[in-house]
Amino acid sequence: MELEGKVAVITGASSGIGEGTARELANAGMKLVLTARRKSVLDEIAEQLDTDVATLDGDMTDEGLPERLIDLAMERFGSCDCVFNNAGTMVVGKAADIDLEAMCHMVRINVEAVFRLAIVAMRHLVKQGHGYLINTSSILGTKVRETTGAYAGTKYAVEALTEDLRMQARGTGVRVCALEPGLVETHLQDHFPVHPKDLLNIKKLVQPADIGRMIRFILEQPDHVAIPRILVMPADQGM
Ligand code: NDP
Repeated sequence: MELEGKVAVITGASSGIGEGTARELANAGMKLVLTARRKSVLDEIAEQLDTDVATLDGDMTDEGLPERLIDLAMERFGSCDCVFNNAGTMVVGKAADIDLEAMCHMVRINVEAVFRLAIVAMRHLVKQGHGYLINTSSILGTKVRETTGAYAGTKYAVEALTEDLRMQARGTGVRVCALEPGLVETHLQDHFPVHPKDLLNIKKLVQPADIGRMIRFILEQPDHVAIPRILVMPADQGM
């Protein structure tokens, strides 16, 4: 798709992968609807982007937020061509001491909220007959590392829904993709006692801007080319 003037909704846009993608899609001339909980951060990012941007702060566990995001894109820009369903958190730990409440809250954000936006977005995109839904999964959407099972489970769930929606979208003009990052330099693991980068002995992590380029690459493919899954990882990450 020609990206100039097209419209993308991006969740988790105040940091990391969402922010990096917002910057890349703005450079490509796309108009953006950005969301996350921290409004001041969103507004700061919006000011730095050389394109039309609407921001809407909110918690993805708010059931009405998905409709409000699509409505905002339609009202402000008259279109919604891409939904990057990306916001998420990561809680890991051994069964003996994992924070159960934090774990269950992660399931609400990474599964329930992601599913809700995915379905709302699909209804919109199929009705208009074109567009892209990209759900952020993980390298842990297809394999498990010890102590990451609950998080990996949320991403396995994203993989399953994404694959189903991809099949349902056949013939509608809509394309659906699971983004599977390996370790990316973001704030996702700031609360870990030891960063996985050190555990896995990785010298240079993938950068948010690298993921932004991948998302742009996916969106720029001609209408007859779909990229259902894309795995992007540091060159020296073993798993
Ligand atoms: P960051 O922590 O840097 O960014 C997370 C984003 O999600 C922030 O913008 C945050 O904004 C938003 N967010 C978190 N919780 C909520 C919520 N309840 N409601 C609304 N927004 C929320 O991490 P990443 O950029 O790394 O994470 C983005 C996605 O990438 C996640 O789905 C993650 O699982 C996935 N991923 C990341 C990898 C990595 O190595 N970094 C690897 C594989 C997958 P705010 O706090 O302002 O609400």
